Amino acid sequence: MNWPRQGMHTRLLDQSYRAGLSHAYLFVGPEGSGKYDTARFFIQKIFCLDHQDSNRPCGECSACRKIESGNHPDLQVIAPDGQTIKIAQIRALQSAFSLKAVEAARKVYLIQSADLMTPEAANAMLKFLEEPAYPCVAILMASHPAKLLPTIVSRCQVIPFPAQNETERIDYFQQKGVPIAQAKLLARVMGDHEEQLAIGETARFAEVLELVVQLTTEFVSKQKQPMQLIHDKIIKIGWSLDLVLLFLDCLGYWFRDLMYLSSGLESELIYSAYREQLVLQLKSLSTEQLLKGSDVILNTKRYLQLHGNLQMALEAMVLQMQGEFRVCSQ
Ligand SMILES: [Zn+2]
Repeated sequence: MNWPRQGMHTRLLDQSYRAGLSHAYLFVGPEGSGKYDTARFFIQKIFCLDHQDSNRPCGECSACRKIESGNHPDLQVIAPDGQTIKIAQIRALQSAFSLKAVEAARKVYLIQSADLMTPEAANAMLKFLEEPAYPCVAILMASHPAKLLPTIVSRCQVIPFPAQNETERIDYFQQKGVPIAQAKLLARVMGDHEEQLAIGETARFAEVLELVVQLTTEFVSKQKQPMQLIHDKIIKIGWSLDLVLLFLDCLGYWFRDLMYLSSGLESELIYSAYREQLVLQLKSLSTEQLLKGSDVILNTKRYLQLHGNLQMALEAMVLQMQGEFRVCSQ
């Protein structure tokens, strides 16, 4: 098993664990600072059945394995439903926590992006923090703690997470077995997507990259049907909004690399492993088309963040891209 990145945050948690667990923790830090990995490690430590080493969970007992695979009956994880965490989610949590723990002495709940709770959800959460039905430990994670109710913050032990720099993030992904060419890109885009990737979508990153190359090739060569590609690879498979947003970021970086390459800034390429494809595509594209393509991607991302309608946003993007690239190679 991997140790989370060490620092003041892990020392504070160790101290707290040894002194007796608090009933609520608030992990505060920017995206990409390792909140999720640390939370998983800490939760394993709480539930681990093999306490030979009090400093770390064994990673092998049934409790550790259930947490790793996300199905421990005494752990509940809440993530935003769309753009917010809604009151119905907090109520469902309260109802699940009105029952005694199944396997462990206490239950644990983890709230990702707690700063995205609606005001109603935050008020329900506050009551829950004040009056837990059974022994439980709450872990709230937030990038923007100022958006939380001060009364929630004051009931939690706050654990600050410092930001990780890009080199540290590249190392981190390489340790997780990601090839260097992908680790470089992942470290760049991870800032906004740490939690989603940590939950198991890192493995899908290769799929995202493949689609970036395929789609841009379709746009430039006009050989086949980019719309079909989007339907087959994203819509039919049912990619999550987060994965699509990650894909759009990667697509945006592809266009950035095309522009860098056209300006002779080859050493700045993030997709250096795909140089051949970039060079080939660049032959058919004007600077104006590159700029317009980047704009289309950015607008699609903004539209999705506001409205969340995946299919409509992606179809509109393909149509606009086809319009922009209509005259290429002619
Ligand atoms: Zn264990």
